[in-house]
Amino acid sequence: MKTCLNCNSAVRDNDKYCRNCGCKIQSNSKYILINVLIIFSIIELIGLLALFLASYMITK
Ligand SMILES: [Zn+2]
Repeated sequence: MKTCLNCNSAVRDNDKYCRNCGCKIQSNSKYILINVLIIFSIIELIGLLALFLASYMITK
């Protein structure tokens, strides 16, 4: 059983909106996926930066 983030009342798993306050129920799995995507893109950026610095140091 999930709980509403807004009013903390219990909501059914297949409910998209809270029956008490009408607040939209957000699934945690979606948030985790977005966070993972953000973390991966940051790691990729850091990797590219490291590669750039490494190649700069080698050529110098
Ligand atoms: Zn609610």
